[in-house]
Amino acid sequence: MPDHVSQPRLLLRRLHSVMAGSGRPQDRLDRVVRVIAQNMVAEVCSIYLSRAGGILELFATEGLKEEAVHQTRLRVGEGLVGLVAERGLPLNLSEAPQHPRFVYRPETGEDIYHSFLGVPILRTGKVVGVLVVQNVAPRRYKPEEVEALQTISMVIAELVGSGTLVDKDELSEDTATTGEPVTLDGMSLAGGVGAGVAVFHQPQVKITRTVADDVDTERLRLEEAIAEMRLQLEQLIEHPDLAHGGEHREVLETYRMFAYDQGWQEKMRDAVQSGLTAEAAVDRVQQENRARMYKIRDPYLRERVSDFEDLATRLIRIIQGDDSDYRTKLSEDSVLVARNIGPAELMEYDKQYLRAIVLEEGSATSHVTIIARAMGVPVLGRVQGLLTHVEAGEWVIVDTGNEHVYIRPADDVVETYKATLELQERLYAEYAAERDLPAETMDGHKITLFMNAGLLVDLPSLDNTGAEGIGLFRTEFQFMVSPALPRVDEQTKIYNAALDAAGDRPVVFRTLDIGGDKPVPFLPRDEEENPAMGWRAIRIALDRPALLRYQLRALLYAAEGRTLHVMFPMIAEVAELRRCKAILQKEIERLKKHDRTPPKEVKVGCMLEVPSLSWQLDLLLKEIDFLSIGTNDLMQFFFACDRGNPRLANRYDLLAPPVLAFLHMIIRACDNAGVPVTLCGEMGGRPIEAMALVALGLRRISISPTSVGPVKRMLRSINLKQLQDFLLSNITSPEHSIRDSLVNFARDHNIKV
Ligand code: PEP
Ligand code: MG
Repeated sequence: MPDHVSQPRLLLRRLHSVMAGSGRPQDRLDRVVRVIAQNMVAEVCSIYLSRAGGILELFATEGLKEEAVHQTRLRVGEGLVGLVAERGLPLNLSEAPQHPRFVYRPETGEDIYHSFLGVPILRTGKVVGVLVVQNVAPRRYKPEEVEALQTISMVIAELVGSGTLVDKDELSEDTATTGEPVTLDGMSLAGGVGAGVAVFHQPQVKITRTVADDVDTERLRLEEAIAEMRLQLEQLIEHPDLAHGGEHREVLETYRMFAYDQGWQEKMRDAVQSGLTAEAAVDRVQQENRARMYKIRDPYLRERVSDFEDLATRLIRIIQGDDSDYRTKLSEDSVLVARNIGPAELMEYDKQYLRAIVLEEGSATSHVTIIARAMGVPVLGRVQGLLTHVEAGEWVIVDTGNEHVYIRPADDVVETYKATLELQERLYAEYAAERDLPAETMDGHKITLFMNAGLLVDLPSLDNTGAEGIGLFRTEFQFMVSPALPRVDEQTKIYNAALDAAGDRPVVFRTLDIGGDKPVPFLPRDEEENPAMGWRAIRIALDRPALLRYQLRALLYAAEGRTLHVMFPMIAEVAELRRCKAILQKEIERLKKHDRTPPKEVKVGCMLEVPSLSWQLDLLLKEIDFLSIGTNDLMQFFFACDRGNPRLANRYDLLAPPVLAFLHMIIRACDNAGVPVTLCGEMGGRPIEAMALVALGLRRISISPTSVGPVKRMLRSINLKQLQDFLLSNITSPEHSIRDSLVNFARDHNIKV
């Protein structure tokens, strides 16, 4: 067994004494690479460190040609070393020259080495260099060897940070910050605009000591910190904000479970046993978790690794005793910047100054996204290169509308956004003041505005916006955040809360629309070529009827004595709907057998999201109490145009004549049959589109809570008769879209769009 595996402690001590010893920094660095090469049984060991401008420079090597030192430079992302720096993850290859990112630098003479193992040198989450070993013979390094090299890289990071190994002026920890304005793209996870100074989420966790003096002491420090961390989590769960339960409390409870994870603790204990300090051990194991996470494709599981990240940070802080800084005090408008952030950590920031969150990772299903929505803070995720482009204290503007983050924005951009923000705030205040006014046109036509919801945190918006009910309750949201299939009683609780909050107002529950872009953790699926048209929504429900039966049961229990509105998603043919209704009927009958109070009445609806169904409208409308048009899906199938494909994003317009003619036909059919029809896609939330829809005869729209104010204001400024004449005369236009004509009409008639 190689020395490093049997005697890791000895190696760490040896390295530490070399690094802390006397002599020129360069001599010490040269000795370090020699010791590592010997211990790793490697022919090459090299250290690359970051310089300003995103450059990685070869600072020391054992095995490569000496003249390459301080000559060989690679950009972050260039070559294998650049790839390690870019990803911040280890790279283990048995045939390095065959890797597509391999670049050959003749001055190094490295072409004879086949195997390559590179690990990032990380300081406070940022890559400050890369440590590499290479061998002539092709082989894959064993997991213990990868771990050993990661451990060594931590010791090097400590010395780099302290400035004793290399003069700090020679280095740049922030590889790509240039002072120039930068705009990066991301993905909107929670909507809104926010601006403030960049606050790095983990500035305090700098590990200053990596090598243990005494293993027993470190073991004790680790155990005590684990106990303290659990205590803190218990207290957090009792937080008054969570007193009423709901998703965010459940999130934290799942999260608390991780704090008791035995595997995690064992790994940290092993790391202490290998000679690291308690804090370095926690960080080491976290680096491993991160590397594993990179390979996981399942978004839900990836998010759970970020929960561990949160716990690890917390643990390190406890170990290092920096309780005083525990909660980052924000004192001015701030934008939180992080690779990722855990749900509990987010709750510890002062909401008062938190204007936005921007993340390198994150996803719509992440726990932190749910908490952020509950806090009303916009989140932009998936921003590549974020951490290398922004410095703490710099001005940052986040706009989830156009999915951009502006770093060090030019003055004109700042001014524009200040104005936008002010306007937004003024408008919000005005909408709030108009909350109780009816959504009625100037010529007296009443339009019903419902809101869309999916989580308990959305419910207060019912009263705040003055919406007349919930036109679409997306029940799958609860399933997406739950690690296991929610039990009937858990589901009942949520549905009951929604009905309670709504009082006399209707709540339309849509049965599970999982699959597609809404994965759930408990139902593994095969990779699908085209998930939007795949095994999703009602297709899953009919293939797994128990899932649907339990959900319907929970809905019926929740509605006892009240009216239940239930609708089914992605119905493609009447026969499918009838199968759903039969299952519902059985559940209603089951109530009687079990002596449960049934709902006062059950109203059954159907979503129109698949175009085929519109050729069975006559039949369909006899089967249902209401119809809901889901334009988000309907329109992507109508135009055969993937709504997630950025190249097609502006290809077709929803104000195109064929769309309007199609919707007009559906609305008329519903009116003739006396079946109420609502539109619940995003389209209805944009005033100009909503204006076209009411002109087509639509009288019920269900939209996101933030759209209620602007749409109502538009409605109150139109003369419907005049608008209708205009729109219907344009519906046969051969143009690509009638948007421009509508905008002009609105301007000419003082319509507030
Ligand atoms: C729709 O498709 O329009 C809809 C409302 O459903 P979702 O956005 O949840 O797919
Ligand atoms: Mg849909």
